[in-house]
Amino acid sequence: MLRIGLTGGIGSGKSTISAIFEELGAPVIDTDAIAREVVAPGEPALAEICRSLGHDLLRPDGSLDRAALRRRVFRDDARRRRLEAITHPAIDARMRQRLATLPEHTAYVLLVIPLLLEAGWQDRVDRILLVDCPETVQVQRVVSRDGIEPEEAWRMVRSQASRDARRQAADDVIDNDGSLERAELTARVQRLDRRYRGAAD
Ligand code: ATP
Repeated sequence: MLRIGLTGGIGSGKSTISAIFEELGAPVIDTDAIAREVVAPGEPALAEICRSLGHDLLRPDGSLDRAALRRRVFRDDARRRRLEAITHPAIDARMRQRLATLPEHTAYVLLVIPLLLEAGWQDRVDRILLVDCPETVQVQRVVSRDGIEPEEAWRMVRSQASRDARRQAADDVIDNDGSLERAELTARVQRLDRRYRGAAD
């Protein structure tokens, strides 16, 4: 089974593109969703985060206060690394479990891994598919989707791998700067889908 790692910066359009792959029948494993699952109440990773970074990160209902966690690791590399040392192995384990449950003759699987380069997970995939767009477009989208200030969006963009680094690492690129009609975007995904099925054969 070919493992395709779909990556791209914040707001680049990963969810949009992965939804089209899903419509075409490709199995999709989304590590962003898994990242939320592994810190749900009762999960060992949540208990570890509290031990390592503070029990006050729990809300009264026992769920993780994600905004408080973001603030606690903000601009503190040592804390951020401690957090990642807990969450990344938990996400990795669950991603492998999901992979193991896929039907035997699955041609390829799309692994949505936003921080593929930042986490150094290149070896988890056979090919890297990048969703790319200019940083100004990323910022505009995140500002209008999440209602945050442009400065905050720029800070998030700059904290991630650079556009150049991503393009260098990528095997395939989907330019998603918004200039393509939805039908054209779908056609591009269809071509990749055919290619990946062919490569798997
Ligand atoms: P994140 O990393 O924040 O989860 P993402 O990479 O998954 O983001 P999306 O959620 O797919 O990105 O897209 C970000 C926003 O931009 C969404 O509101 C989406 O509807 C919009 N968007 C994505 N692609 C396009 C496009 N080609 N044209 C117009 N809007 C788009």
